[in-house]
Amino acid sequence: MGEAMAVDTKPDPAAEVLERARTLALDLNLTEVKRWKAENPGCLAIGHMPIYSPRPLLEALGCLPVGVFGGGDEIDIIRGDSYFQSYICHIPRSTVELGIAGHLDCLDGMVFPSICDVIRNLGGMWKLLFPDRYSAYLDLPQNFDRDIGGRFYAHELRRIASEITALGGLALDPERLRVAIEDDNRRRRAIAQLDAARFATPWLYPASEAYLVVRAGSVLMAAEHADLVDSYVALAGQRSNRPLDNVRVVLVGAFCEQPPMGLIISLERAGCDIVADDFQHGARTIVGDVVLHDDEDPLDTLAFCFLDQGIATASRYIADDEKGGALIAQVRETGADGVIFAAASFCDPALLDQPMLEAACAAVGIPFTAFKYSENTGQFQVIREQAGAFSDSVKLWGDTSHASLTQPSPTEQGVAR
Ligand code: SF4
Repeated sequence: MGEAMAVDTKPDPAAEVLERARTLALDLNLTEVKRWKAENPGCLAIGHMPIYSPRPLLEALGCLPVGVFGGGDEIDIIRGDSYFQSYICHIPRSTVELGIAGHLDCLDGMVFPSICDVIRNLGGMWKLLFPDRYSAYLDLPQNFDRDIGGRFYAHELRRIASEITALGGLALDPERLRVAIEDDNRRRRAIAQLDAARFATPWLYPASEAYLVVRAGSVLMAAEHADLVDSYVALAGQRSNRPLDNVRVVLVGAFCEQPPMGLIISLERAGCDIVADDFQHGARTIVGDVVLHDDEDPLDTLAFCFLDQGIATASRYIADDEKGGALIAQVRETGADGVIFAAASFCDPALLDQPMLEAACAAVGIPFTAFKYSENTGQFQVIREQAGAFSDSVKLWGDTSHASLTQPSPTEQGVAR
């Protein structure tokens, strides 16, 4: 079975920046948010669920946007379970648990974008549980015509802006929004550079590290996050690690509830270079720069780019585009040998999309395998063996392997819906 370990024993030039990223990314006590609020008295910190949150708008209102990804495998669910039915994913339970346990007390409000029905329910539950705290449900357009969906989304953004201003945020100012959009562009370019470095030299930029570096931005302003990503790219590029005999895979389906770190590392140790993934999809929702125009309100520009530059994913309407087309293009662009479908258990958007994506891969001979996880999955051995078998099979037989590799694993059977 494929086994791959880093072999470089010299001091790691990226160790310090990586450790900072790890601390920022995985700190459930939001120490950085508390530090930022102490340094910026009177300013608000606004939490938001993983994807489709207008972070530049929040920054323009003088707020620190804070990405909330549930409790991962670091928190025991004691009360969170009692607010939701059994057969849904894990992230709403652990988010409620974090709220009840006081981990999110430093947040002045929460935004719940309409990712799926579960997030809608979580937003409603949040209002019931914390009636004194600001919470907003952000409806997203399902019509991608600028005059319909664009106007609707811009109206939603203006509504949230005026509510946050009433809460104590700054008034919406076009110039401040332009600066925030430019900062976000810089962050997006830094992440794009990291992604390019990953698929060019994955042995220097493991997915498990890139994950931490990108997720660290969930508690940083865009400009500071861009600096952190740039530092990591520059320093990790100085490593002398050698290429490993791994297969290159694209991992898809993990855009909302995040897998535990141990699972990502297990996939790497099973011989997979994850050259692209959707773990931190929220930071990659928009492709390319948001281009500002002198004769257009920057808030409208922000709304239109959601329609025109959004990356394809399971929870985004793609109109007449072909399901799986974007995934196949990504496999080709990154030179991947195969695809790993890794969805959170009971994640409706990911699991409804998956058969169509699998069919698209099968039609063009791209090998794939699939498993499900939960943010607090503790046993990685079965997934590691499955990924190792996949890696070895792809090396041996290439694109003929997918038929036998998509049988439900014991892991899948255990949580099959
Ligand atoms: S993991 Fe899937 S089902 Fe659960 S909240 Fe996220 S998108 Fe919705």
